Amino acid sequence: MDNSITSNLNEVRATLPQGVALVAVSKFHPASSIETAYAAGQRLFGESHEQELAKKYEALPKDIKWHFIGHLQTNKVRYIAPYISMIEAVDSPKLLHEINKQALRNNRVIDVLLELHIAAEETKYGFPIDDCRQYLVGGEWREMSNVRIRGLMMMASNTDDARQIRREFSSALRFFEELKSTVFANVPTFDTRSWGMSHDYLLAVECGSNMVRVGTKIFGDRQY
Ligand SMILES: *Cc1c(COP(=O)(O)O)cnc(C)c1O
Repeated sequence: MDNSITSNLNEVRATLPQGVALVAVSKFHPASSIETAYAAGQRLFGESHEQELAKKYEALPKDIKWHFIGHLQTNKVRYIAPYISMIEAVDSPKLLHEINKQALRNNRVIDVLLELHIAAEETKYGFPIDDCRQYLVGGEWREMSNVRIRGLMMMASNTDDARQIRREFSSALRFFEELKSTVFANVPTFDTRSWGMSHDYLLAVECGSNMVRVGTKIFGDRQY
């Protein structure tokens, strides 16, 4: 047992208001670290590599909810479709289609978030806000009965400039609220705002996040 994981986890929990879900990001950490967090009551974990997740899924208790938080290639969807609880980083219509197809094959409905690209970095995946709006207004996604769009996910720029981070989170929040009063008016299950990581999750919560994805602050540095 690694006592620091338990105390880090409790520390993060203590700072989160009611109603904010904590995704413990366990990528590149061993199953034993997850077991420690599990023993401390954590049931929601985030992973970003299909093969690593498959191994952990096999080895660990089945009441764990797994969120796929990384960039997901369409040819990997079928491996996680039977058991994934949420796919957080849907960044293209093509990926959404594939998730719908594989969910149908597994006779289930898969919860997803659409990933926004707001950060300044070129390399980040995701829909620019205008593209996301255009896609949702287009309405083609309504035909996909085996995916449920639960909300939005984004990563802020990797910077120490708190004002910039706040600006980016606030843009995501504003867009969420816009969708809530337009495309998703009267859709109570469109309810999830996933932003905030180890270094910025408190700022994220101030800016309306209700799902934070925290790895390093719980498990320490990743073992690549
Ligand atoms: C790795 C990762 C995290 C966690 O990052 P930390 O800085 O370790 O908290 C959160 N979100 C996504 C999408 C990630 O890939």
